[in-house]
Amino acid sequence: KESAAEKVLSFIKKNNIEFVDMKFMDFPGQWQHFTVPVSVFDESSFEDGFGFDGSSMRGWKRINESDMLIIPDPNTMFVDPFIDAPTISLICDVYEPATKEKYDRCPRNIAQKAEAYLKSTGLADTSYFGPEAEFFVFDDVRFDSGPNFSFYQVDSIEGRWNSGREENPNLGYKPRYKEGYFPVPPTDQLMDLRNEMVQNLIKVGIDVEAQHHEVASGGQCEIDMKFQPLLKSADQLLMFKYIIKNTARKHGKTVTYMPKPIFGDNGSGMHVHVSLWLKNKPLFAGGGYAGLSETALYFIGGILKHAPSLLAFTNPTTNSYKRLVPGFEAPVNLAYSQRNRSASIRIPMYSNSPKAKRVEFRCPDPSSNPYLAFSAILMAGLDGVMNRIDPGDPLDKDIYDMSPEELKDVPSTPESLGAALKALADDHEYLLKGNVFTEDVINAWINYKMDREVKPLALRPHPFEFEQYFDV
Ligand code: GLU
Ligand code: MG
Ligand code: MG
Repeated sequence: KESAAEKVLSFIKKNNIEFVDMKFMDFPGQWQHFTVPVSVFDESSFEDGFGFDGSSMRGWKRINESDMLIIPDPNTMFVDPFIDAPTISLICDVYEPATKEKYDRCPRNIAQKAEAYLKSTGLADTSYFGPEAEFFVFDDVRFDSGPNFSFYQVDSIEGRWNSGREENPNLGYKPRYKEGYFPVPPTDQLMDLRNEMVQNLIKVGIDVEAQHHEVASGGQCEIDMKFQPLLKSADQLLMFKYIIKNTARKHGKTVTYMPKPIFGDNGSGMHVHVSLWLKNKPLFAGGGYAGLSETALYFIGGILKHAPSLLAFTNPTTNSYKRLVPGFEAPVNLAYSQRNRSASIRIPMYSNSPKAKRVEFRCPDPSSNPYLAFSAILMAGLDGVMNRIDPGDPLDKDIYDMSPEELKDVPSTPESLGAALKALADDHEYLLKGNVFTEDVINAWINYKMDREVKPLALRPHPFEFEQYFDV
């Protein structure tokens, strides 16, 4: 029988492929790549890999120890639909050249270790992840002309209508404010674009469940993929982002996964549906609240307990915390519920099938590195299962409608990236189990995020400060 590597090599021959594009994940969460002609690609490529300079990679090696290696995973091949010359892509793992061991700060390596750790516990052998990454489609925004929207003009949702911002008479079937979910065309102007995105996703082997416009009127969209095991789901999320962005680019549009690009409108979340399985049996269905098993409830307990530190990986940008505010369908309180979309964890009730039983963690957003985010979610949930962490009572009232008095015992999501990183510094034992995350990874993450994002942002005068203080 042909091995995966042999399949790649015969595919190259049969289809006259000219280039192999090596893609790998950097530390913050962006795919990087370089390309080799097929003349230098053979079976040894899957063992010896290819060298690159790790010192240029954000959050990785220093200049004096910069040589690194990537080795492609033959199970990840797809034909790149956006490159003119016939090109296949392979997703790679990052190695230390001296020892030929996987690099500790390679996010894909961390995801592989998380999957291995799950198996080693004997509690489950597979974790399934289904991310729903929302995104905005804008008309091409170029640096020379500046963004085509203003982020300091409007001082309240009501103010939006009086601000003069873009609210000329609506003669073009523009969706009304918060009514993008989801009238038919011509109000939905992105139908054809999303279909083309889906066609491209299917071409590269991704199972798509649905596509639709989202709530925000500024062109917010969602395309849902079928759930997959952790590593595969994270690989597919990167293919997904790549395909969505590049399909839009072909039409002179720009896609952003920034969690809160527009002040006063819904942000983009990446709800993550999770379930654990053992020997092909679902472990989250049972006789408890919302048809959940004890395992599922403890899993929820672990996520809620560790949420403040977990968010340092699932909501890892300063902009992430501008989304986690009341009024925009994003979660603000650390609670769970079967009907309540304002809770951090929702139990979807669309189906009674035990196989469909899952928990939906609503905090994550698509600015996260999915390898790190999914691994951290799994580790937090497992900590709950192993230590039988009680999730407390569900919160079935609409949290947005509860008084401050009623809410005073419900903990909130951290209010900033700085606060989440502080929580991570204090609470990360659960991530170190099985050597999945190492102390080095945790420290490197905190330092990278503080030095490159949190502190530099704090140093910059903001347009809103000019509005408030210029005339003092
Ligand atoms: N856009 C919302 C968020 O920021 C989610 C909307 C939905 O329920 O799909 O989480
Ligand atoms: Mg959505
Ligand atoms: Mg959802």
